Amino acid sequence: NILIEQTDPELFAAIQAETARQEHHIELIASENYASPAVMAAQGSQLTNKYAEGYPGKRYYGGCEFVDVAEQLAIDRIKQIFGADAANVQPHCGASANEAVFLAFLKPGDTIMGMSLAEGGHLTHGMPLNMSGKWFNVVSYGLNDKEEIDYDAMEAKAREHRPKLIVAGASAYSLRIDFERFAKVAKEIGAIFLVDMAHYAGLIAAGVYPNPVPFADVVTSTTHKSLRGPRGGIILMKAEHEKAINSAIFPGLQGGPLMHVIAAKAVAFKEAQAPEFKAYQEQVIKNAQVIAETLTQRGLRIVSGRTESHVMLVDLRAKGITGKEAEAVLGAAHMTINKNAIPNDPEKPFVTSGVRIGTPAMTTRGFKEEEARLTANLIADVLDNPRDEANLAAVRAKVHELTSRFPVYR
Ligand code: PLP
Repeated sequence: NILIEQTDPELFAAIQAETARQEHHIELIASENYASPAVMAAQGSQLTNKYAEGYPGKRYYGGCEFVDVAEQLAIDRIKQIFGADAANVQPHCGASANEAVFLAFLKPGDTIMGMSLAEGGHLTHGMPLNMSGKWFNVVSYGLNDKEEIDYDAMEAKAREHRPKLIVAGASAYSLRIDFERFAKVAKEIGAIFLVDMAHYAGLIAAGVYPNPVPFADVVTSTTHKSLRGPRGGIILMKAEHEKAINSAIFPGLQGGPLMHVIAAKAVAFKEAQAPEFKAYQEQVIKNAQVIAETLTQRGLRIVSGRTESHVMLVDLRAKGITGKEAEAVLGAAHMTINKNAIPNDPEKPFVTSGVRIGTPAMTTRGFKEEEARLTANLIADVLDNPRDEANLAAVRAKVHELTSRFPVYR
């Protein structure tokens, strides 16, 4: 950091300010986490300088013998963690991992089926403005009146529309997903079954959320959410799909892999194999459950009624506040969340009636049940009195007292 300060003081100031924000605010964005210093060091290493188009042992550039080691370590570790036949660790992000799967198996105009964005799915699962929605004919499934995935309706739609690919996985769904049930209907209609486990990957790695790998043809993920690695993507697959997926990533979609990021992925996967990682993920779920219970006691409604993972959606309507305003006032109290549509949301997507709350980041900094309960009460304190500056200042002071006891990067 001294080097950045000397070379680029303006940028240095922004990094310093962001570092302070991460230390002093409570991070509740469900898709974020704090990567370890070792992960960040690998990402900042000399491997950033290396071109390595191709795959370990089969490159289009010389001098790849050491980056080959890094990539092979990442591949071997991630296969072992999830019990996968094969892995590709080159996707630059979660979206490009999904795009590669589409490129491998589909042609424009084909039908795909995914969870609707409005009910918890991700935009790469068929949202109209995303490539997945522009290039493919999209059939969506969603939730039933208990706000659980409507598996019966999903099966009926699959039989009616016979999509070439079915994707399971979500960005805002708190319950366990029955991957086996999706796999059965995909098999019945001859569809490729893709699971996008981006949100749940860390929980799955630790065995505290169902593993889709035995049931899916292909599993994609990000590496930076609950898995706590660098920003990036991965693809796990059955052996029979390895060739198609590898050629879809390179040369299909990407050029040179980001070897420094792949090295950081290798470090993160090693960390995910340690016993502490399992304890961490168990705590992530405990903390989420404490927050869901506490917010319920304070008069808020949790979508689907509960959480079985790291994430929950909170229906704010009882407090007479929109998601947009809640994001702003909680931010002013130094708690970072994102507004999120709830099922059948009466507000526009940019306003919403809900917020999404996740516990991976707070748990990394050491929060346990007591701190999770305190955090939930502070959220409710803000939402009970969102336009009172003195209230926001009082909560902010309590947030700082809490975050100063749990430094992220010592
Ligand atoms: N898939 C799911 C389920 C996600 O939640 C996300 C990110 O929010 C992605 C894919 C996309 O990942 P990225 O932002 O790395 O492209």
